[in-house]
Amino acid sequence: MIIDQHTALYGVVGYPVGHSLSPVMHNTVFSASGLNAVYLAFETKDIGGCLEGMKALGIRGMSVTIPHKSAVIPLLDDVDDLAKKIGAVNTIVNDDNGLVGYNTDAFGALRALEDKIEISGITCLIIGAGGAARAIGFIMKERGVHLCIANRSDHKGEALARSLKCPFVPLKDMGEIHAELIIQTTPVGMYPRDGHCIVPKEVLKKEMVVMDIVYNPIETKLLTLARTQGCLTIDGLQMFIHQGAEQFRLWTGLEAPVTTMTKAVEKVLKKSA
Ligand code: NAP
Repeated sequence: MIIDQHTALYGVVGYPVGHSLSPVMHNTVFSASGLNAVYLAFETKDIGGCLEGMKALGIRGMSVTIPHKSAVIPLLDDVDDLAKKIGAVNTIVNDDNGLVGYNTDAFGALRALEDKIEISGITCLIIGAGGAARAIGFIMKERGVHLCIANRSDHKGEALARSLKCPFVPLKDMGEIHAELIIQTTPVGMYPRDGHCIVPKEVLKKEMVVMDIVYNPIETKLLTLARTQGCLTIDGLQMFIHQGAEQFRLWTGLEAPVTTMTKAVEKVLKKSA
């Protein structure tokens, strides 16, 4: 691809962003789709300055990551209803409507699940009560899933459970919940501490579906354990790819080549393993 005066610029803003796989994923998609566009990583604590720069320079779209996902909301011209409810934006579109915020994490998790199972009416235990748990919880609730939250700190877990109008259990009591689906949303099991697993083996039953949203490594200790117990497993890469595909659709109006994206990110993850 030749970068010229027509090249559209996209990026990810966060602090830090050195670990982000979004540049590899999106540059692969732009190239595979024949678009004259590039995607860069912007490491900054100054989210206000970043938004001014986006407007002034005509940067078409931005992924937003830690620590800016909530702080960015009051600075935008408009925010999609689901992102407002979740209280976090991970995607900005810059067009004639100004800077508009969305949350594609929720969509990504939903697509990853719905590719494998029917979720309406099932009972789901979400482990964790951070930003990702919140995004997943709100969209699952909208789809008629019966939720329960388990978290390390009671106050955060109880606060999310209150927002979702569902029960809370401390981590040590997660085995008491008869869940058909477990979604693990904490960083436990993530590289370099990938030998850890937050769910005791005896909690995992063969009729369960287990999703871990950690994607480095792709096969976490939890997923290995769940598979050996006979559970259906869903890895975090699926959510990551689908949230990226939705960003691409919001920015370009095009469907993303999901298989190409998956292969590009898998290659980087396998190289770093
Ligand atoms: P966050 O807002 O910081 O929340 C982290 C949650 O994990 C909190 O509930 C925290 O519990 C809990 N936690 C952290 N360390 C723990 C430990 N050692 N033991 C038990 N619980 C622990 O983070 P987030 O944005 O939700 O992200 C969480 C994970 O999801 C990260 O690994 C991130 O990479 C991954 N993620 C993946 C995708 C994807 O597309 N696959 C998307 C978003 C995030 P306390 O309340 O007790 O602190």
